[in-house]
Amino acid sequence: MSYGMKSMQHSSQKLVIIGGGVIGLSTAYYALKQGFQVTVLDSNGPDAGNCSSANAGMIVPSHFIPLAAPGVISKGLRWLLDKESPFYVRPRISLELALWGWLFCQHANQDHVDAVRHLLCELNLESRRLFQELSQDEDFGLQSCGLLMLCQSQKTLDEEAEVAQQARELGLSANLLESKAAALLDPNINMNIAGAVHFAEDCHLDPARFVTSLKRRIGQMGGQLLHNVAIDEITFRNGKISSVSGSNETFEAQQFVIAGGAWSPGLLRRIGLRLPMQSGKGYSLTLHNPTQLPQLCSILAEAKVAVTPMGKSLRFAGTMEIGGLGTDINPARVRGIIKAATRYFPDFKISDFDGIEPWVGLRPVSPDGMPYLGKVPRLDNLVIATGHAMMGLSLAPITGKLVIEILTKRPTSIRIEALAPDRFS
Ligand SMILES: Cc1cc2nc3c(=O)[nH]c(=O)nc-3n(C[C@H](O)[C@H](O)[C@H](O)COP(=O)(O)OP(=O)(O)OC[C@H]3O[C@@H](n4cnc5c(N)ncnc54)[C@H](O)[C@@H]3O)c2cc1C
Repeated sequence: MSYGMKSMQHSSQKLVIIGGGVIGLSTAYYALKQGFQVTVLDSNGPDAGNCSSANAGMIVPSHFIPLAAPGVISKGLRWLLDKESPFYVRPRISLELALWGWLFCQHANQDHVDAVRHLLCELNLESRRLFQELSQDEDFGLQSCGLLMLCQSQKTLDEEAEVAQQARELGLSANLLESKAAALLDPNINMNIAGAVHFAEDCHLDPARFVTSLKRRIGQMGGQLLHNVAIDEITFRNGKISSVSGSNETFEAQQFVIAGGAWSPGLLRRIGLRLPMQSGKGYSLTLHNPTQLPQLCSILAEAKVAVTPMGKSLRFAGTMEIGGLGTDINPARVRGIIKAATRYFPDFKISDFDGIEPWVGLRPVSPDGMPYLGKVPRLDNLVIATGHAMMGLSLAPITGKLVIEILTKRPTSIRIEALAPDRFS
C-alpha cells in the first residue's frame, strides 16, 4: 500500500505514542498516513526542548560505522584525561552504566562494524529519500550538497581516506580532497586543514523547522499532540497493553509506541523490561551573524565537532558526556567546541561566541551504536523506537515508516533483526 494514500484499513485503531521528539513525531506522521487515530504524549511543555530541537541537523549516510567500533575505547580513554575533549563518562556507581560499558566493549570491534554497516547505510539512504519526499510539500531548509569531513593532520586524513574507500564499496560517493580542492568546493569559508573527504549524499536541514513542520502536518491530519503529560504507569493484561497513565490522565488504545528518547529505559523498567542505554549529553552553539557562512555542513574530524549552516546562522555542535539525565552545562566542554571552531576556521574568534547560550541535548545511546526498533516479547501491541544516539534526526523518517510496517504486521521494507530491542537479553 502506498504511503501517499490515506488508508482506511487502520482507521478504527487508536495509537498512542509516548514521546514527542523527532522519532515520535515522524512515527505519528506515517501512522496518520495509514489511517491510525494518533495521540502523541510528551512530558515537556510545547516550547521546552528535547534532543530533537537544536541538534546539528545532519542527514548522514556517511555514518555507517557505529559508535561501537575499533579504536574508540583507546581514544575515549585518552580523552577522559582532557577536560575540553569531546568525550567524557561521568564516574558513578551504577549497575546500568557497568552493563552498558561491558556491552559497548563487546561490540567495539571490526566484526560488529562489518555486520551492521550495510544496514546503517541502507537506513540512512532510505531516510534521506523520505526527507526529500517530505520537503516537496514543506520547506525545512533541506540542503543536499554533501558533508565535508575536515582533517587537520595527515594521520586523520589517512584514516578518513580509508573510511571513504569503505563508503565507495557501499555505493556512496566519497572523494578525498586536498585543502585547495576543499576550499574550491566551499569558497565561503577559510579553512585551516590538511584535507577533507566530501561525502556527497549527506544533507543538512534546520531541525527545529523540521519538527515544526511535522507538528503542523500531524495537526492537519487530525492527530493529537498533548504536552505536559508524563506517563508513569503502563497497564497490561493477556500480553497486551490496555492503557498508559500519567499527570492524572489515562489513555487507552489498541497500539502503543515508546519513543521516549533517553528517558525510555526508566519507563520500560515499569513493565519489567531492561533496555541497556545511557544518555549522551551534547551541546550546540548557534551564531546568528557568523563571520563567514559555509555552504556545506562539516565535521571537524579530530575535534568531533559538527558545523551546520542554517539559513543565515551557523551552528557548532559536539561533545558526548555519557551518564545521567541531568542537563547541567559543563563550561570546559563548551570551551572545547569553541576552541575547535577557531582552530579549523581561523577567521573566527573565541569572542564571536560571547553571550551565546549553549543548548543541551541528551542523546539516547545504545551500547552497540544501533537503534532499538521493534516489538518486545510478550507484549503484542507495543513497539519500541529509540536509541538512535547521534543519528536520531537522520533516521527519523525511516524509523517512523518501519514502526508502521511493524504495527500493521507487514514485512518490513528493510530487514531490522539487528535492531531488536531484546537483542541483549
Ligand atoms: C549536540 C547534538 C547534535 C546532534 N546532531 C545530530 C545530527 O546532526 N543528526 C542526527 O541525526 N542526530 C543528531 N543528534 C542526535 C539527535 O538529536 C537524537 O538522536 C534525536 O533527537 C533523538 O530523538 P528522540 O525523539 O528519540 O528523543 P527526544 O528528542 O529526546 O524526544 C523524546 C521525548 O520523549 C519525551 N518523554 C520521555 N519520557 C516520557 C514519558 N514517560 N512520558 C511522556 N513523554 C516522555 C521527552 O520529554 C522528549 O520530549 C544530535 C544530538 C546532540 C545532543
